[in-house]
Amino acid sequence: MVGDRRFKDPIDLHSHSSVSDGTQTPAELMAEAGAQGIGTIALTDHDSTAGWAEASAAAQEAGVTLIPGMEFSTRVQFSSVHLLAYLFDPTDDGIIRETARIRSARLTRAEQMVHRIAADYALSWDDVMAQTTTGATVGRPHIADALVARGHAVTRSEAFAGILHWRAGYYQPHYAPEPIEAVRLVRAAGGVPVLAHPATRGVADVVPEERLARLVEAGLFGLELDHRENKPEARARLAALADKYGLAITGSSDYHGRGKPNLLGENTTSPEVLERILEQASGSNPVYP
Ligand code: AMP
Ligand code: FE
Ligand code: FE
Ligand code: ZN
Repeated sequence: MVGDRRFKDPIDLHSHSSVSDGTQTPAELMAEAGAQGIGTIALTDHDSTAGWAEASAAAQEAGVTLIPGMEFSTRVQFSSVHLLAYLFDPTDDGIIRETARIRSARLTRAEQMVHRIAADYALSWDDVMAQTTTGATVGRPHIADALVARGHAVTRSEAFAGILHWRAGYYQPHYAPEPIEAVRLVRAAGGVPVLAHPATRGVADVVPEERLARLVEAGLFGLELDHRENKPEARARLAALADKYGLAITGSSDYHGRGKPNLLGENTTSPEVLERILEQASGSNPVYP
């Protein structure tokens, strides 16, 4: 039903606003997407849907189709795994409870990291709060911005490569559910789950086939293989598994405004794949201009 499509190309299914670690408000992000000729954009802030309402109004104004989404923090032992979730019901109890728990754990963890860093560098919790929008999902990027403001690093990336790297000794993990639990929650809320940038750690650390098979059984829809941080060999391995298990392949920028070098629309998703996402989603609706 190609002729009936109400959304436009190019399609970018992963972006962040100041509701998490992007540098633009949801409205600014939608205006930017419109100005840059993006046809369809998903807003996928970490562990929060707080930007959806503002983004909806701004997307309509900017002439962009909005796919409401979120990037769910999950964890396998000490590794953090991100799960993109599209068009789920933001009022679903399971989603609300779990994301509130993660955001609260993130806050405590950030305070503890700042406490540790403050033993060696001039840095306070107020410095971090000065870089954070009220109610935003707090992460290392906000600590990075505070370190930059204090002159301990020149850019976010430099802070990540140095003081915020897990090897530096200040790193601390935070609570997050297992990926399979998040996949189930997203499907139960009528959403469509896609594993975010699943090939960033190289081919040796790619998700083992048995685990991927269990995620598929639980409702995983696809793999975000077209993402700048995925490593070529690992991407090829996962492309073969996607084929075997009937998983869709998505592509997106993971735009964070000035917070990362990623550019809007640098990777995109095909209209056919978005069409399948829309067919499977029942928790909320896209916002058409
Ligand atoms: P956290 O979840 O608090 O451990 O922080 C991870 C977040 O930091 C991810 O969502 C990334 O978007 C962001 N991030 C990771 N590495 C970098 C980097 N080199 N520069 C900027 N942001 C980064
Ligand atoms: Fe991020
Ligand atoms: Fe991510
Ligand atoms: Zn992201």
